[in-house]
Amino acid sequence: MEREYKICQKCVMDSSDKTLTFDDKGVCPRCNEYETRIVKWWNHGEGHEEELNKLLDEVKASGKGKKYDCILGLSGGLDSSYLLHLAVAKWGLRPFVFHVDAGWNLPVAEQNIRRICDKLGIELHIEKIDFEEMRQMQLAFFKTGHAGLDAPQDHAFIAQVDKFSEKLGVKYILNGYNICTEIVANPASWNEGAGPTADKTYLKDVMKKHGGFKTKNYVYTTGFRHKFWLPYVKGVKTVHLLNYVPFTKKEMIETLVNEYGYEPYKQKHFEDLLTKFIEGWWLPTRFGYDIRKAQLSSLVVTGQMTREEALDILKEPPLTEEESKELFSQVAKKLQISEEELMSYHRMPKKYIKYRNKSWVFKLGIKLYTMLGLDKRIRR
Ligand SMILES: [Zn+2]
Repeated sequence: MEREYKICQKCVMDSSDKTLTFDDKGVCPRCNEYETRIVKWWNHGEGHEEELNKLLDEVKASGKGKKYDCILGLSGGLDSSYLLHLAVAKWGLRPFVFHVDAGWNLPVAEQNIRRICDKLGIELHIEKIDFEEMRQMQLAFFKTGHAGLDAPQDHAFIAQVDKFSEKLGVKYILNGYNICTEIVANPASWNEGAGPTADKTYLKDVMKKHGGFKTKNYVYTTGFRHKFWLPYVKGVKTVHLLNYVPFTKKEMIETLVNEYGYEPYKQKHFEDLLTKFIEGWWLPTRFGYDIRKAQLSSLVVTGQMTREEALDILKEPPLTEEESKELFSQVAKKLQISEEELMSYHRMPKKYIKYRNKSWVFKLGIKLYTMLGLDKRIRR
């Protein structure tokens, strides 16, 4: 039975999140949690100078006598680009900067990455993923029928962070996660049927069940390594320094445009051809999941945009029909399948088979972070 359509009266999250509830004022739990738990600590990045300086001193001390004092993965997106700018130009950190090239980069992203690294004098390390393997993995994920299609790229990125932090002996990972633009996360219900992204067991089982091939060059990580071994045994800390400084999304863009000639993207994650296709067309048209609802809600609850402005943006689809058609044929071509085959995955019934996974490791890891007060996110 179809549920009645409902939308939060404060943000723009709605019943496309099947599990979303509303209080008697029609407000969703995310908005309430932001008020009761998040903004009190965060305070829009204001008043954290002391904490920030202490953290920066620790990062610098940990890198004494070494070439690098931290690691930063640069996607070319707004968050990691702005973080790199602050880390190097403002805070004087010496990050090992790497970029994962999974074969789906759009030229504008490569240009942005180059411009920022050149001006900052950064030696960029590019990890090129074996595209034939990536293509096979991606195809296997399309055959699952579920929404978590970007797992091969996301996993590759996480695995590289883990690999480098161990290899280089660096104790700090700079992560671009920020309350300002990301506090309203994509609901877990938008990922129905999918396993944890950082879970090797899950990725391998998807490939085993759809295609049965084995990768040779792809680098994996595991929940154990990611959530326990590195943070607690190796003492590698992931820090979200963007939460300790005040800025708005508009200011982020202006800074990067003025300082580096950065070219902004129309939507978050639109620096990557496949992600643009998945988030801009596949998810909204197959599932009714419009990722912009979470992105815009983050701006609304943090006071950077009115709810009316967000609703106005949502009236138009993320991509025009022409853009969608063009992307569709580009993606089919890169996956080396016909457009008919790609469309057949779009029409698959929304019934999912179970994949082996170690989600309990991740749940335990998150529980531990929350207990230690390290988690400043709203998780749903
Ligand atoms: Zn809300």
